Amino acid sequence: MRYEKLLRDKNLIKEALDKIRSLNLRKNVNIMEVCGTHTYTFFRFGLRRMLPENIHLISGPGCPVCITEDSFIDKAVILARDKNNIIATFGDLIKVRGTKSSLEEERALGANINIVYSPSEAIDLAVTNPGKRIVFLGVGFETTAPLSASIVKEAKQKKLDNFFLLSAHRIIPPALNVLCSDKEINIDGFLCPGHVSAIIGAEAYKEAAQKFHKPCVIGGFEPLDMLIAMYKICLQVKEGKSIVENEYDRVVRQRGNPAAIKLLSEVFYVKDASWRGFGTIKKSGLFLNEKYKNFDAQKLIGKEIKVKNKLTNCRCADVVKGKIKPSECPLFRKACNPEKPFGPCMVSFEGSCRIYYEYGG
Ligand code: SF4
Repeated sequence: MRYEKLLRDKNLIKEALDKIRSLNLRKNVNIMEVCGTHTYTFFRFGLRRMLPENIHLISGPGCPVCITEDSFIDKAVILARDKNNIIATFGDLIKVRGTKSSLEEERALGANINIVYSPSEAIDLAVTNPGKRIVFLGVGFETTAPLSASIVKEAKQKKLDNFFLLSAHRIIPPALNVLCSDKEINIDGFLCPGHVSAIIGAEAYKEAAQKFHKPCVIGGFEPLDMLIAMYKICLQVKEGKSIVENEYDRVVRQRGNPAAIKLLSEVFYVKDASWRGFGTIKKSGLFLNEKYKNFDAQKLIGKEIKVKNKLTNCRCADVVKGKIKPSECPLFRKACNPEKPFGPCMVSFEGSCRIYYEYGG
């Protein structure tokens, strides 16, 4: 809050926009804002419309619920149908449908589904319900994964044998590398997510900058933060540079948060994992390692279920990859809206379709 007034100051915002315009970029520049919160701020403050016309913003895959595949929801539904289980989850996941059902539908049929606001509530549920198995649905990137890791550690310390984690945690840099090589999207630079970067550090984007020659600038979430980051990306494009810059250095360090990184590597191991819209991305998923395998909810389901994402007219797979804008989906604002979402991008507050819908994209 200390910075909020300054970072929303109209004169400073105008100055930042003037600086972007003064670069006088002659070509179209495609900049991906990786994080849903950046998309939200661009819309909420009307910043998109103020940028020069040849700067195109592409919304990226940084909405955890949106990139979570149908198979994960299917697993959660299987677990929810077992009367011995209580599901603990963040709220926006329950509206997302898998191939056959959603947690919201299962709850209407009697499944015990608890919406939690903090992962530690799942531990409380395990302590107060010794006769039940508590399954926490761990969804999200490097920002939320340390929270899941810490409750798994806590469950071990408390010797809880009725707490489980179903992990759909993913890590961001491998997805950016995939996007860098996708000729269909043609990204000129990345506005990198502030929250994730606070954990992994600015160094994590080196590969995108050095190997794939994409300017990467980490931005905070206030309008001025984002416009300064945009200016730095555009300046790099103009000068033909591709380096990592940290505009959010009041929060993000070069090497991130060592304690959180240590915690992640203690509890999880990294392996190939699938993302909606991307398919399998190498070394992009976090799964419980040997020491914590007793807490893995996967063992309650048995063998890994593999399903193809259902075939519908929903274009979330293209939206999360930035291949189309939500407004290009034939269902947008027609059959699909926040009251009756067809896909996860209309469910989550960080989903591009939801943001476009709410803020007139
Ligand atoms: Fe899917 Fe709805 Fe978005 Fe279309 S508008 S991509 S149906 S969530």
